[in-house]
Amino acid sequence: MDVILLGPPGAGKGTQAAALAETTGLAHVSSGDLFRDNIKRQTELGLLAKGYMDRGVLVPDEVTIRMILDRLAQPDARQGVIFDGFPRTDAQARALDEALAAQGRQINLALQLNVDSEELVRRLSGRWICRVCQTPYHSITNPPAVPGVCDRCGGELYQRDDDRPETVRTRLKVYFDQTKPLEEHYRRAGILKAIDGNQNIEQVSQELRSAIERARRDGSGQLSGNVECG
Ligand code: AMP
Repeated sequence: MDVILLGPPGAGKGTQAAALAETTGLAHVSSGDLFRDNIKRQTELGLLAKGYMDRGVLVPDEVTIRMILDRLAQPDARQGVIFDGFPRTDAQARALDEALAAQGRQINLALQLNVDSEELVRRLSGRWICRVCQTPYHSITNPPAVPGVCDRCGGELYQRDDDRPETVRTRLKVYFDQTKPLEEHYRRAGILKAIDGNQNIEQVSQELRSAIERARRDGSGQLSGNVECG
């Protein structure tokens, strides 16, 4: 089974995708994490991506798609993936459909996390991430047990450069201009399911898990009676 998490920056895609990967056994593939890992390792791809990421704009499709297709070729991605932050453009969505189809797979479910704009800004400005395992925290809603230290691996927590207010504004605009229109692609395929992402982390997790279980039971991946088609 292959699942996409759609939603604006700050909607909780990273937190939820990591939790879902643990409960469902699907591989968590985050394009943002892959870029940040390349930046940390100072690869050519990382150097290229950093210039775009620091400005809050998208890394070019060709580079992003190649990186994701390489990731899809790894063994843990064969059994199914939760995509987090990818696709973000129409070209990426089409490339993903083609790559999966070549392996006899398809996106079974596109989960759309809806969160109010003021809430997004509040979440992004309080966000802290583990340098080692990328686990995200929030200074108010989801703080680590020890400030500045990751609960999961003991790594150091940091605030992302692109969570600065002016970059956040650009990222939200980019989302509404380029990524939100993708919902139509998945709505037309009958696999879009909207989730209220304003709820607390556990409530959102529960709804996401139920949607995946339902789609799994259904087998074909097509949602029946639950399709968000507004
Ligand atoms: P994220 O961690 O998903 O918020 O992504 C952080 C930044 O990485 C974005 O603002 C983009 O600059 C870049 N990025 C992540 N995923 C993509 C993607 N699918 N396409 C283009 N750029 C991306």
